[in-house]
Amino acid sequence: MKRNYDIAVIGAGIGGLTAGALMASKGYSVAVFEAGHVPGGYCTSFRRHGFMFDSCLDAISGWGEDGWLRRVFRKLDIEEKIEMVRLDPLRVDNFAGDKVNVPGSIPELMNLLCGIAPGEKDGILNLLDTMEEIYRIAMSTPPEILYGHYGTRGIIWKYREKTYKELLDEFIANPKARAVMCDRCAFLGLPPSKVSALAMTVMFMAYSSGGGYRIKGGARNLTDALVKALFGNGGELHLNTPVSDVMIEDGKACGVAVPGGKILAKAVIAAADAAAMCRMAGTDSVANKASISFYMVYLGLRGAPEIPDSMGYYPGYDIESTFADVAMDVASPNASLEIINYSGLSPAMAPGGHTSVMLMSKAEYSYSRPWNECRDYEAEKVLSLAEKAIPGITESVVFRETATPLTLEKYTGNLRGAAFGWEQNVSNARISSRTRLPGLFFAGHWTYPGGGIESVAASGLAAAEGAAAVINKEAFN
Ligand SMILES: Cc1cc2nc3c(=O)[nH]c(=O)nc-3n(C[C@H](O)[C@H](O)[C@H](O)COP(=O)(O)OP(=O)(O)OC[C@H]3O[C@@H](n4cnc5c(N)ncnc54)[C@H](O)[C@@H]3O)c2cc1C
Repeated sequence: MKRNYDIAVIGAGIGGLTAGALMASKGYSVAVFEAGHVPGGYCTSFRRHGFMFDSCLDAISGWGEDGWLRRVFRKLDIEEKIEMVRLDPLRVDNFAGDKVNVPGSIPELMNLLCGIAPGEKDGILNLLDTMEEIYRIAMSTPPEILYGHYGTRGIIWKYREKTYKELLDEFIANPKARAVMCDRCAFLGLPPSKVSALAMTVMFMAYSSGGGYRIKGGARNLTDALVKALFGNGGELHLNTPVSDVMIEDGKACGVAVPGGKILAKAVIAAADAAAMCRMAGTDSVANKASISFYMVYLGLRGAPEIPDSMGYYPGYDIESTFADVAMDVASPNASLEIINYSGLSPAMAPGGHTSVMLMSKAEYSYSRPWNECRDYEAEKVLSLAEKAIPGITESVVFRETATPLTLEKYTGNLRGAAFGWEQNVSNARISSRTRLPGLFFAGHWTYPGGGIESVAASGLAAAEGAAAVINKEAFN
């Protein structure tokens, strides 16, 4: 390891790797320091007894022509290095047995909703027009401006402090149509009455217009493509190397402290848990809550049961109430469940004649019982819930493993196992990419625009642009 670089990046999640790979591609000397033994953070895969699972992911947005992930991969000239498979349908919503194939296209979504609520056609068209307008503006507005409301007018101003529920209330009443429009609230970790109308619209439209994708062969292939781009341009990745401090000299960030000593850098990009990074750098954090976490059951199944690539199971059309018991009981009668079939689109992710599935339930870090005591018992309950969606699934289980909010925190350092950084409530308060400390930049889901692979790729690009401007070698146009 050298002792002097242009850029030191803290954390090899997709936020940090995007920033590092982009900086390296522009000729900067880059070292990425990762506390864990593998890169990717939440975006990784693991194999057990021949079954392969993504540790966290269901579907990824941002691979449409204008998506942020696609833009980053295009800038790095590595679009062809991964195979993305579009989910079709985007997902199956299973409302207690009433199954709806949800498309990843706006015209088809419009037809679906008008079929569900023919009497509310005008409201549906106006709702989707409004959401498309918000999304269009969001894709061309720096997220700090969009969510900070600086200089925003018109439609963004109108919805700046509204919840998604308030947005829907203006246009549609049909419970089933509303349930379809709220089916991805778990992707931002908040119920319709709490999630920001702007953040939810941007996420919902990203999937509904650009489509949802799986990475063929597993999420780690996305991470590997960024690592190869980093290496291909002379960048370095140091695994098992936790950063313990951000070094400051003359009021500027000038490097990081790692177990082997101090590393000097002209700029530092912090792409790990924001509260910890702010503490290290002595900068202000934000007054917001960590987002929700998840409890996962990874299943190896015998045979090829009919399981959609991506299914959301809900006990009825009331999505709001699926958030009611998350701190008490992940499989309560109110609970919803994400059921993800990995080997449907990537058969190599399971041994021949078998299927790899993940069950994912919203969960709180502070739970009614200590997680380490109840994780197996909870798996039984979550399986019973899955049985309602996929009858017979329990009988075909040949392998089972679980992960709790504690597991997520342990492997990634995310505060309370937060899945999406800070909560995306109406304030959507997040760390800015540019800090008050010259030479320090933030990336990742604790900063803008927020949680999700597409968003953290966008944050990595923003941090790289900021750092490049400080060193002033080459801009990112
Ligand atoms: C269960 C679950 C399901 C999800 N589903 C989806 C989905 O379907 N689609 C989607 O788009 N998004 C999904 N997300 C969200 C998405 O995975 C995250 O928002 C995103 O991966 C975060 O990337 P990141 O780079 O900000 O941080 P992380 O992935 O958390 O990476 C941060 C990295 O920094 C390292 N680190 C921490 N501290 C230090 C230190 N001091 N020194 C060095 N390294 C350090 C960590 O080890 C980690 O590798 C899901 C998340 C979870 C938990």
